[in-house]
Amino acid sequence: MPTIELLVVQPTPFCNIDCSYCYLPNRSSKAVVSKQTLVNLFSQVFASGWVRDCLAVVWHAGEPLVLDREFYRDVFRTVDRLKPAGLAVTHAFQTNGTLIDEAWCTFFAEEQVNVGVSIDGPQQFHDQNRRTRAGRGTFDRTIAGIRLLRRTEVPFHVISVLTSRSMAAPREMFDFYVGEGIEEVCFNVEESEGDHVSRSFANPGIEAAYYQFLSEFWRLSASRPGRISFIREIEHAIRQVIRPNDAPFSNQLVEPFAVTSMDWAGNISTFSPELLGLKNAGYGDYLLGNINHDALIDLPDHPNLARMLKDIQAGVRMCQETCQYFSVCGGGEPVNKLAENGTFASTETRYCRLTKMRATDLVLDAIERAQQSGEGNQSPDSCCLEPRDQAACGGIGVG
Ligand code: SF4
Repeated sequence: MPTIELLVVQPTPFCNIDCSYCYLPNRSSKAVVSKQTLVNLFSQVFASGWVRDCLAVVWHAGEPLVLDREFYRDVFRTVDRLKPAGLAVTHAFQTNGTLIDEAWCTFFAEEQVNVGVSIDGPQQFHDQNRRTRAGRGTFDRTIAGIRLLRRTEVPFHVISVLTSRSMAAPREMFDFYVGEGIEEVCFNVEESEGDHVSRSFANPGIEAAYYQFLSEFWRLSASRPGRISFIREIEHAIRQVIRPNDAPFSNQLVEPFAVTSMDWAGNISTFSPELLGLKNAGYGDYLLGNINHDALIDLPDHPNLARMLKDIQAGVRMCQETCQYFSVCGGGEPVNKLAENGTFASTETRYCRLTKMRATDLVLDAIERAQQSGEGNQSPDSCCLEPRDQAACGGIGVG
């Protein structure tokens, strides 16, 4: 029986801004998920027996704050009514931050929403890609939202998409976060996904640049304890590297339904959330059914799942046979294999070389240096070891 760990729900495909690296194909559509579709989703998820003790729900794949607070309050109360007693449900928003106001901060606090804000560092890096449809930068509005979150003491993290320019400026990035009181950071790289082809990946020196960036950023954080409490890439790499051999490990992105995604119209997909809106000559689309017409528990029988799973599992086996990072990676992210290699049945991508291999190298190098200097019993960086809810900071999309 599948286990749903993360439910990604698209409340609307619409986004009020138009980032140059966005992979969402319908971000100008103002369609909104219906109440009935959400009732169908949550009632079937809870009745399926596919959820264990807790369920993380991320409202994403469009800008969630373009809908009003009453919409979410109503949905959250409906979820509360439908969910089995004892099941913990958490809600998270990944937002571009431009619409955050005092009323949203009150809502986040009252509803205990995990908030992630997409900001790409200081203005000159952020405004390079994160622009309005009229081409204007969005930094001023995003940073105003972040300052409001801080002023109202709403906890949040940020996700920053690194480009070649920002990777070359770790100190500038670090000083920016510290200056703005941003304590929890997650770094994404500009990926090739859907129709978007990463310009950063065309840079032949990007792997070394990424390693250097993370290394210097980590060093700066360790040299000023208490400023940056969480660097996702370092935290995740440490957790995998120092994991006891017998500790369970799974890659939820290759497990059917571990991450279940629904678009505004009720279409369901799994594996990488980005697959929801994609089409491909070889696979067609990646949908398994529609929650308004199909029973969730019948979706494992959809032929698309068998086709995807066959190729994804072949790719994982190939990774296992050929890659020395498999024990810390588990076979990578299907959507990146598809975008970069044209098929799930493949191994290395630029994306995994950066986010898995170089991040792991960095942590291993730090452990080796610590052991050589007689500090082998200490963690490489104790400021980065606090556990975090994976959903709160997952590598989902670009926001
Ligand atoms: S790092 Fe890349 S090649 Fe290695 S297991 Fe992960 S996805 Fe496969």
